[in-house]
Amino acid sequence: MAPAMDAFGATKRYRVPALLLRNAELYAPEPKGTVDILAVFGRIAAVREKLPRPRAFPVEEVDLEGRTVVPGLVDLHVHLIGGGGEAGPASRVPPLSAEGLVRGGVTTVMGLLGTDGITRSLVDLLAAARGLGERGLTAYIYTGSYSLPSVTLTGSVARDLVLIPEVLGVKVAVSDHRSSQPGPRELLGLAAEARLGGMLAGKRGIVHVHVGGGRRGLEPLFRAVDDGDIPISQFHPTHVGRSGDLLAQAVEWGRRGGSFDLTAPSAESLPWLERSFSELERAKIDWEKITMSSDGGGSRPRFDREGNLVAYDHFGVETLWEAVRFLHRKGGYPLERLLPLVGKNPAQVLGIAGKGKVAVGYDADLLILGDGLAIEGVYARGVRLL
Ligand SMILES: [Zn+2]
Repeated sequence: MAPAMDAFGATKRYRVPALLLRNAELYAPEPKGTVDILAVFGRIAAVREKLPRPRAFPVEEVDLEGRTVVPGLVDLHVHLIGGGGEAGPASRVPPLSAEGLVRGGVTTVMGLLGTDGITRSLVDLLAAARGLGERGLTAYIYTGSYSLPSVTLTGSVARDLVLIPEVLGVKVAVSDHRSSQPGPRELLGLAAEARLGGMLAGKRGIVHVHVGGGRRGLEPLFRAVDDGDIPISQFHPTHVGRSGDLLAQAVEWGRRGGSFDLTAPSAESLPWLERSFSELERAKIDWEKITMSSDGGGSRPRFDREGNLVAYDHFGVETLWEAVRFLHRKGGYPLERLLPLVGKNPAQVLGIAGKGKVAVGYDADLLILGDGLAIEGVYARGVRLL
């Protein structure tokens, strides 16, 4: 049943306060067998076999007949208001819709700015995140964009973290011709500010680092960690699967206790992604350090052999779940190993409580899966959105 919407499409939540899903084959992410899941006012209140129906309040009951249920996805790298713009104003990517996120199974999202921190604003991004919140999803943002000094909402990265509830971290780009070419000093300064702001706000203040295709790769980050007093866990580099060399650096980063993110932006990239994971397996990297994100709304310029731009499109978020299905089918990895990459781990890296697990006290963000693990239904905080 679709939730009631007001004129602006915001969900009118909890017409019925409780939801009881019967006969779910639950991966929480660990396999729990066939259980019933009770959610009250958007939070999971009980998970076990043959739950009695509560009598004190109205309950919406759905028999899932053994369908697989997994936690809603946490996507920590999404250009909510569209990225791009590298081929002029006509190449600006349009904003993503709440429907697109829901179809992709993404119930918690981190919005960010990309290359363009000039015509794209954090105010716009914050409003987009709040709009998604009204639609029933959970949305946060990073302050900053590619460049240093960072663009901010309130005048500084630390103040943004302290004053704006939705700001959980800061974004910056390294080793990319489009970045402001920050060295270890600049990165340390940024991380120190994010760390301090995070502490004062009770947040992790993560520094989300876009790593480009430049030859230095993670080197500026290694040097920042070596030269300063900031723990490696303050940084979370992304796009580290873009080349074999960069992945080798990510292995070293992981061995030193750092976490990192692999991007699953398109169907064509999935075989490469699978090779990256088998490489990480061979290197015995703890998967708890790894997250996977879609780069949804990011641009995808295509060039001909002479380097002329011939096509320009953008990524959606639906490849994130496609990646999980592909790694399960082709890589043979069990769901309980893959689900944390797009749930528990990003929630932990960002410091978001109540996400990435189906357990008592967690938000009732749930995906109902059909044949071939196709997404058939999506609940966000106990309300059915798909
Ligand atoms: Zn991006």
